[in-house]
Amino acid sequence: MNMDFDANKIKRVIFDIDYTLLIPNYYRETEFFEETVPNHGEYLTKNILKILTEYENIYRQYDKNIFINHLNKYLSYKVGYDFMEKWFKFNAQLDNQDTTATKETLEYLKKKKLELVVLSNWFTKPQKEKLKRVGLISYFDQIYGGDYYLKPYEASFLLASHPHKLEECVMIGDNIKVDVEGAINTGMNAIYYTLGEEKEYSKNKIKNIKELKKIF
Ligand SMILES: [Mg+2]
Repeated sequence: MNMDFDANKIKRVIFDIDYTLLIPNYYRETEFFEETVPNHGEYLTKNILKILTEYENIYRQYDKNIFINHLNKYLSYKVGYDFMEKWFKFNAQLDNQDTTATKETLEYLKKKKLELVVLSNWFTKPQKEKLKRVGLISYFDQIYGGDYYLKPYEASFLLASHPHKLEECVMIGDNIKVDVEGAINTGMNAIYYTLGEEKEYSKNKIKNIKELKKIF
């Protein structure tokens, strides 16, 4: 658990949301697509990840209008704002989950006078709802979603670190390319969260969120 940065110099800890702070309900999104987009349920279930990745490769932030147009390129049934609002509501219907360890850890970090910030790639509105739902929202000073800037683009890490220096911040997330390499390439420290699994990754990593209490 040796980290390649000096924990005493860290002023802000920045967390990814999905699969880092909480478990999203994306795995049962098919229910939502089938109900909301006639005849496209199966298609969207299969392709949504590809569609989102393509969007994130082209654009630097999520914008509702641009995203709806992007999505409609793939659909013969056209979706609009009401679809997005329903989707956001569905996102917030999380499965029950135990966030005790996460809360204890966030409380500990706060006591250590560290600022806590969230940097997620999905729209801010549903992400805030999810944090509320699991009782985590009050721990965070700032909540930045993909409608600010997308990870791994530099602008997202610069925004999340402001007004501190990049090297005074650490990003924690479960995605190597987006969270970890994105942060490191920008000049920020990073910790890879392996979701309890053993992973072949030679740099900073934790298996359990509680390990942060030993680092800071
Ligand atoms: Mg994640």
